[in-house]
Amino acid sequence: MRKIYMDHSATTPVDGAVLQEMLPFFREKFGNASSVHQFGQEAKAAVEEARETIAGFLGASAGEIYFVSGGTEADNWALQGVAMALKNKGNHIITSQIEHHAVLHTCQALETMGFKITYLKPDATGRISPEQVEEAITRKTILISIMHANNELGTLNPVVAIGEVARRHGVLFHTDAVQSVGKVRIDLSRWPVDLLSASAHKLYGPKGVGLLFIRKGTPIRPLFYGGGHERNLRAGTQNVPGVVGFGKAVQICDKVLEEEANRLEQLREALWNGIRENIADVRQNGHPTERLPGILNVSFAEVAADSLLISLDMKGIAASSGSACSSGAVEPSHVLRAIGLPEELQQSTLRFSLGRSNTEEDIQYVVDSLVESVERLRAMSSGG
Ligand code: PLP
Repeated sequence: MRKIYMDHSATTPVDGAVLQEMLPFFREKFGNASSVHQFGQEAKAAVEEARETIAGFLGASAGEIYFVSGGTEADNWALQGVAMALKNKGNHIITSQIEHHAVLHTCQALETMGFKITYLKPDATGRISPEQVEEAITRKTILISIMHANNELGTLNPVVAIGEVARRHGVLFHTDAVQSVGKVRIDLSRWPVDLLSASAHKLYGPKGVGLLFIRKGTPIRPLFYGGGHERNLRAGTQNVPGVVGFGKAVQICDKVLEEEANRLEQLREALWNGIRENIADVRQNGHPTERLPGILNVSFAEVAADSLLISLDMKGIAASSGSACSSGAVEPSHVLRAIGLPEELQQSTLRFSLGRSNTEEDIQYVVDSLVESVERLRAMSSGG
């Protein structure tokens, strides 16, 4: 059976060249990057080289990149670290209703500690406007956290304009760029962003490693206490193979970014055209132009998303639904709800996230499979 992976927003396979770069750091070059001997110094040099590469790619300086265990930790650290550092200045944080749970659940935890959170509602395409952000700012606001690209819709937020608002009001600005780093160009030398989260496994690097960019001078407390790693701000022995892999993955993204973005955009359009020309009652969600190249979010009226996912899985196709399955119950997506998608479509929506492995032949196969599956499921649900 063919196997087609269209869930690259969930995670990506490690690139072969990335794996090759990582392998020596598990055995021959296994040193602890904090050790003074040669084993340690070899590991440390590799970590610092990766830091330089990644900083260059993002338009940051190496001293502003802090390696962490992934996007979840980076988001937790940005929010909790700034909240703790500035709690005497104010207790108000602005975010959006469609952030990843790494941000939303952290905000909920901060609420139990006395912080006040404003959850801005996006428009129907999933965008937050700078005007909305500005209106929400109070004298107590210490942080604005608005994601760069939404993981379900692919919609891009106007983070430069939001950052300018934040700067004007003297408020710090964090953006969760876990989905956008490596997919669209980011230039922190020009963007008014104080903190940015990224994760290696979304860009063909390994799982369990990410970064928080912290602009020089930004007040932040550590999340963990321990050794003096990462310039005394993130204790814990560095994940040397992971960091090396992250660096290599970013180097590859830098080379292929524009070409791959164009290719994925074409494939995504071909997939959408195939769907809308061959299946009735479908709609695309998200923003028509301000979007990531690889994400297509589609609602199929009168089809249960989980049944469609299973049917596609049986044909070797991996996609995902906006719904997270927890304790047997399918939870409607908070993102689809927030953009005001009609309730009956919220559980009929799939996300296809395309990536390097996908080809034109994949698109045809997925369209054919969708036509067959949707027809059959609709016939079953109407008792036909
Ligand atoms: N933020 C966004 C927007 C994401 O899509 C994800 C992962 O799905 C995360 C944060 C969490 O990243 P990680 O899996 O590296 O913890």
